[in-house]
Amino acid sequence: MLQVNQVSTGYGEIQIVWDVSLEISEGEFVALVGANGAGKSSLIKTIAGILPCWSGDITFEGQKVGNLPVPKVITLGIALVPEGRRLFPYMTVLENLEMGAYTETSKQKMADNLAWVYDLFPRLKERAKQLAGTLSGGEQQMVTIGRALMSKPKFLMMDEPSLGLAPLVVDNVFETAKKLREQGVTILLVEQNVRKSLEIAQRGYVLEHGRIVMSGDSQSLIEDENIRKAYLGI
Ligand code: ATP
Repeated sequence: MLQVNQVSTGYGEIQIVWDVSLEISEGEFVALVGANGAGKSSLIKTIAGILPCWSGDITFEGQKVGNLPVPKVITLGIALVPEGRRLFPYMTVLENLEMGAYTETSKQKMADNLAWVYDLFPRLKERAKQLAGTLSGGEQQMVTIGRALMSKPKFLMMDEPSLGLAPLVVDNVFETAKKLREQGVTILLVEQNVRKSLEIAQRGYVLEHGRIVMSGDSQSLIEDENIRKAYLGI
């Protein structure tokens, strides 16, 4: 479904991501793990069209997406749950969700997609008229995920969805990701919570200093001595 081939990117003159290649098949759940500052967010922002692709290419369902404008990328079926939520605190839950449906197709399917989001997060339906800024951290994360789902993506990238949440709420977020995959959404989960994300994903890639240093099925990564020392504290 997604092919990232030798992709590089950065900010200004500073290169952050170096010749990264990865592949994700339809229906897969893949984790992208690595330390703070490794370049995980930069890589997925490049896939989403937010950052320019300096070199290499990105293909989604056979179509080139690197350097396409963001709305075009969304229309193809790619969505991003950004790190740090980035909600509009003085807008209601419903208004925030509606912001996720700004392409023509998603506007037409607004009612269906909203019903899907409310089914996934009944709490958001109850709080539809509440200002997003007054919600708990976990509820705000639900809105952030829900907003990305309002474009009915086939492929969802989630950037550190567990950051800053209480352990019980973290479990809920991971459960949601699992549920989405069961519903057919292909997932790329970016996490510093290496153990949890590898436990839930089928495969993983490890990014260090902007380069993929290891990849494989989750179990073999969890058992790998270097990963255990570097990321699992064992
Ligand atoms: P984190 O978990 O902290 O988000 P990450 O692996 O997602 O880590 P990135 O956010 O992609 O890493 O950041 C990689 C590097 O790029 C860091 O050194 C960071 O300081 C730098 N960087 C990120 N955003 C910008 C920006 N807007 N301008 C300049 N440098 C940036």
